[in-house]
Amino acid sequence: MNAEVLHGSCHCGAVRFEVRTAPTPASRCNCSLCRRKGALMSPPFAAAELTIKTGEADLTLYQFNTQVAKHYFCKHCGIYPFHQTRKDPRLWRVNLGCIDGVDVYALEAGINDGASLSVVEDA
Ligand SMILES: [Zn+2]
Repeated sequence: MNAEVLHGSCHCGAVRFEVRTAPTPASRCNCSLCRRKGALMSPPFAAAELTIKTGEADLTLYQFNTQVAKHYFCKHCGIYPFHQTRKDPRLWRVNLGCIDGVDVYALEAGINDGASLSVVEDA
């Protein structure tokens, strides 16, 4: 799919963002964090493609294991809208479930082998 401007938000609406990316190919990741949150992610895109419209101060950062990837969550509703990737910190992905007009249950999803990127066991 071609890149387009997608509009997204967390559940409570504190965090609103726009991103220019193709929504597919979508993927899921098998690392210990993604396994728990179960989100369907966009393809990776450059940081400059993401604009946080509101709620930057409502985000909280979670890091684990190698401390490279930056996983952002809304402080209020707990929803994960996007993260900076471990594989290439210049790249980000968004949670397609946060994007207006995207039916995540209608998309095919590949699996990212995030588990094998970890240098610490069981990550
Ligand atoms: Zn929220």
